Amino acid sequence: KGAVHRICAGQVILDLPSAVKELVENSLDAGATSIEIALKEYGEESFQVIDNGCGISPHNFKVLALKHHTSKLSDFPDLQSLTTFGFRGEALSSLCALGDLTVETRTKNEPVATHLTFDHSGLLTAERKTARQIGTTVTVKKLFFNLPVRSKEFHRNIRKEYGKLISLLNAYALIAKGVRLVCTNTTGRNVKAVVLKTQGSGSLKDNIIAVFGMSTFNCLELVCLCISDGCKVDGFLSKPGYGSGRNLGDRQFFFVNGRPVDMPKVSKLVNELYKGANSRQYPIAIMNFTVPTGACDVNVTPDKRKIFFSDEGSILRSLREALEKIYSPSHA
Ligand code: ADP
Ligand code: MG
Repeated sequence: KGAVHRICAGQVILDLPSAVKELVENSLDAGATSIEIALKEYGEESFQVIDNGCGISPHNFKVLALKHHTSKLSDFPDLQSLTTFGFRGEALSSLCALGDLTVETRTKNEPVATHLTFDHSGLLTAERKTARQIGTTVTVKKLFFNLPVRSKEFHRNIRKEYGKLISLLNAYALIAKGVRLVCTNTTGRNVKAVVLKTQGSGSLKDNIIAVFGMSTFNCLELVCLCISDGCKVDGFLSKPGYGSGRNLGDRQFFFVNGRPVDMPKVSKLVNELYKGANSRQYPIAIMNFTVPTGACDVNVTPDKRKIFFSDEGSILRSLREALEKIYSPSHA
């Protein structure tokens, strides 16, 4: 049974970025307005997500890390209209199987917080009172300790995984409005560096300035397009001639209804049209698609990064038309 549990756990948690992503999404689902991600040795030793969300009620402590436990489905009977990030109840149980999990949590109804320890099958093994503000802290140590091959890869590629993680956190920092997001990394003898910090402002503009700086923001222009019935795109794109020469995987961010997703086709389209204006450069792109909930399906892969539009062809066509206007020579 243990082995099956570990194999299945591999589906949501593939690497360090997907592990941290699940915790950050849980914090967002909990209504947090402040989320701190604290890494030790780039996440290799441990990672911790600290939030000021609603906390976890004591009646959920025992089942919290069991497979398929979720508190979110009962509140949202209709999967199509689901707006929370999680509902499969797999993240905490997977993390238990793949590392050492502890949780500290307190709701507004509790006078003190509780510190919870789980074993690798998701059973609650220890429970004690502790001091904490309302909210939740989830700590994972020794990720992948029990999967020799994955563990070896993890340690060998830690800087790459860390880079991917920061890029992913940038995506959440850009799109989360009214959420203060901080990421720190502690290395060596307690040298703690702030890697990312936003103020929890209400605008995408302020978030871009916090993440990339004012000088980058000045090279961008606002995009606001209606591309079909009930489907619009807003965000920012490099002004013609103001792209960056470096490989831009880390400066293109796509969202659907506020959820970070991969959109290789849109990325390709934007690069192609931009290159039409200037051949050696790639644009910075930060674009949020607002679409009716029925028009796309984000739940096809466990990590929810892939997205399918029911009418992708026409969305891409209208997008091309609209962007051609921005990047046509006459505009610049
Ligand atoms: P899911 O998010 O799919 O429900 P998870 O395994 O990620 O499943 O989390 C299980 C449950 O634990 C959630 O449904 C929620 O009730 C609770 N939970 C996890 N993290 C937090 C958090 N940061 N704040 C409040 N509740 C949380
Ligand atoms: Mg979750």
